[in-house]
Amino acid sequence: MLGLMQDQPLLISSLIEFAERHNGDGEIVSRRVEGDIHRSSWRQIASRARQVANALDQEQLIFSDRVATLAWNGYRHLELYYGVSGSGRVLHTINPRLHPEQIAWIANHAEDQILCFDLTFLPLVQAVHAKCGTVKKWIALCDADKLPADSGIPNLVSYEAWMSPLSDRYDWPSFDENSASSMCYTSGTTGNPKAALYSHRSTLLHAYAAALPDVMNVSARDSVLPVVPMFHVNAWGIPYSAALTGAKLVFPGPALDGKSVYELIESERVTFAAGVPTVWQMMLGHMQSQDLRFSTLKRTVIGGSACPPAMINAFQQQYGVEVLHAWGMTEMSPLGTLCTLKNKHLSQPQEQQTAIRMKQGRAIYGVDMKIVDGDGKELPWDGKSSGDLLVKGPWVVKEYFKGEGGDPLVPDARGRGWFPTGDVATIDPDGFLQITDRSKDVIKSGGEWISSIDIENIAVAHPAVAMAACIGVAHPKWDERPIVVVVKKPGAELTREELLAFYGGKTVAKWQVPDDVVFVEAIPLGATGKILKTRLREQLRDYKLP
Ligand code: ADP
Repeated sequence: MLGLMQDQPLLISSLIEFAERHNGDGEIVSRRVEGDIHRSSWRQIASRARQVANALDQEQLIFSDRVATLAWNGYRHLELYYGVSGSGRVLHTINPRLHPEQIAWIANHAEDQILCFDLTFLPLVQAVHAKCGTVKKWIALCDADKLPADSGIPNLVSYEAWMSPLSDRYDWPSFDENSASSMCYTSGTTGNPKAALYSHRSTLLHAYAAALPDVMNVSARDSVLPVVPMFHVNAWGIPYSAALTGAKLVFPGPALDGKSVYELIESERVTFAAGVPTVWQMMLGHMQSQDLRFSTLKRTVIGGSACPPAMINAFQQQYGVEVLHAWGMTEMSPLGTLCTLKNKHLSQPQEQQTAIRMKQGRAIYGVDMKIVDGDGKELPWDGKSSGDLLVKGPWVVKEYFKGEGGDPLVPDARGRGWFPTGDVATIDPDGFLQITDRSKDVIKSGGEWISSIDIENIAVAHPAVAMAACIGVAHPKWDERPIVVVVKKPGAELTREELLAFYGGKTVAKWQVPDDVVFVEAIPLGATGKILKTRLREQLRDYKLP
């Protein structure tokens, strides 16, 4: 017998309809590429998203056609999020930090029909447009009078000239909730990039889950600053969760330096912010040097790579901001776990609570996870056994766009498919996940594993260290030994011996302490701000252990 409830597909258009009707005056504030602050509202975003939908109809784009963006976090990007997906097309957010060749490859692979870009990326578009054969229209996200005169790009129009003359009346279509809504290519350190193709259903379920109190806890009382880019896994779903709850959204545009981010938090009374550790490193540096304080910020989600304990402590102890450490990946829309305490932890001493907060957290309802050994045998949740992490759930990919890379899933005894994350982790009896490494970054010394994350966390806790990366180098006896590559803070003094001595008494065994420290001017970062260990290993190809 079937239930007798209304069958209504979960569609992205329902989010913007809800936001307009119930929180229409909710603010959307954006720092624009031009540098000024622009103010809009959920009502205006909804109205302009319908104009975008009419413009796409006029271009004769059909259902599931791809519309790409090369854009910062801002109101026009948000209008495209809803106008493109809401009208049944697929939003393809491209990461502008990728190599131009890779961008052209991705645009061709996705068969993008239209590409919308912020003027910051005009030189990039000039470099790649001739190679993007499927793109028939280029749209600069600017006012008509800001359109560059002789850009050399055929069919270039300004966004405002393209959409604003059109009607803001549009009936959002209804269709299968499993239809594709947006796509995101993983930066992929090896091989060609592969795309996760999200659906309306997966996006809505993820948005619901992300807003829960034990997840991001987003509400209509929040002013939310997603520093995490809208070109990287839909800014962790915040543009959708904010519409669902009616939160105020504050977009930083291209200004991601510590000073600009701090000032925006203060001026827009931000209560909740989200970003990767590198961004917060810059902001904390600015605050420390200027002796600044927050007046409204209450919590911040930090993820994308391991958040160093020193950062969690700085936020909590110096600034009274709760850090929610999160783990996820492009293939998971991206949220998998988030670190919030359970009731029983609240009576524990501060030190123990902090130790828990360092972990990547508990699975969000909707995500199932397990760790397995080399033979695929499930390992216990004892906080010690470390194994390959596998996940499944309604917002986890089952395959990549166009079947790229074959079937990624690993079946269990019941035939259910699990997605191998490539991460190595432990899970404790309370269900808290701790990522110890990427499977390809883990260091194997004498048959035992050394977590590069542990080594890096200790190094960055040293006051003279700005950034640290631990890699393994070949060793005749132990196979591999860890070394730590370090960028010093400007003006700071630090010797190899001082840093190695700093490992004494910390949470690493003697044999896990790195064999050497290599000081460098800069550590290579990938397109999503993460340390590019492959590049670092190449750079140190000729390095010899002392
Ligand atoms: P890409 O795959 O392009 O690097 P993703 O955002 O999909 O970008 O990266 C996902 C990976 O980032 C995870 O598999 C994990 O290795 C790492 N990661 C994400 N969050 C954390 C975290 N909180 N701690 C440690 N590693 C993390």
